[in-house]
Amino acid sequence: MSHATPSTYRGRFAPSPTGALHAGSLVAAMASFLDARAHDGVWLIRIEDIDPPRDIPGAGEAILDTLFRLGLTSDEPVIWQHDRYDAYEAALAHLNAQGLVYGCACSRREVAALAVALGLAPSVYPGTCREGTHGRPVRAIRFRTTADPITFTDRLCGVYTQNVEREVGDFVLKRADGLWAYQLAAITDDIEAGITDVVRGADLLDNTPRQIALIRTLGGTVPRYCHLPLVLNHDGQKLSKQQGATPLNPDDLMGELERAWTHLGFPTLGADSIAAFWRTALPLWQARFGQ
Ligand code: GLU
Repeated sequence: MSHATPSTYRGRFAPSPTGALHAGSLVAAMASFLDARAHDGVWLIRIEDIDPPRDIPGAGEAILDTLFRLGLTSDEPVIWQHDRYDAYEAALAHLNAQGLVYGCACSRREVAALAVALGLAPSVYPGTCREGTHGRPVRAIRFRTTADPITFTDRLCGVYTQNVEREVGDFVLKRADGLWAYQLAAITDDIEAGITDVVRGADLLDNTPRQIALIRTLGGTVPRYCHLPLVLNHDGQKLSKQQGATPLNPDDLMGELERAWTHLGFPTLGADSIAAFWRTALPLWQARFGQ
């Protein structure tokens, strides 16, 4: 397909190196890649290695190697979040200058106890330290949310609305252990990379309003979102690298591609090579999601 103007589409796949790629992460990699190609766009890989206690040494390299063997390589140099701490510090300073962050002295246990006492879900931060910590030492840095509901239209899940202040509360940007929180890191990188389209698993649907709040205050452009159906294990839980989901079978990468493809709602392709798989899948993706 030829376009009069070059595409501005920029998408990404952003795995955390907490284990090997599994069937669920392949679905996100596949869909984000095909969607970028279907829009003549750029596809980037970002390794979200900002959580040393959870990250597994060598897992980032292993993920890139598996992606390479599946025919998936980043169109621009791979971004490693451990190289980006200065950018996260600058983003935090920017939010701080707007009066949108504050130090919080509460432990997770204190937050849960107070939330429950107030009739909230245990994960909802009830704003305890909004007006100061009353001399208690600061542990984490939080973002000051507002009561305005945030609404966006997901390409697959439809209209989604969340009152972040009420349903999540002021959320953490920098953790008590000094590590950067996923929300701030991901958003800083998405803005800097000019990401126009986020295609990822539906487990992050309810994180999206938090991210939109951050993007707006940091002056970025809110991307389009497409949250994909999750791959569940036998117990109905989301596959997760951290919980030891079975890695992709290196001896059956064609089978893995076909299974991810049918999970996305398409009929089996029966391709006889990895290159043929992508060649055949692309026009089908384009016909369904090319708009
Ligand atoms: N690193 C996240 C994960 O592995 C994905 C982040 C994102 O796509 O925004 O679940």
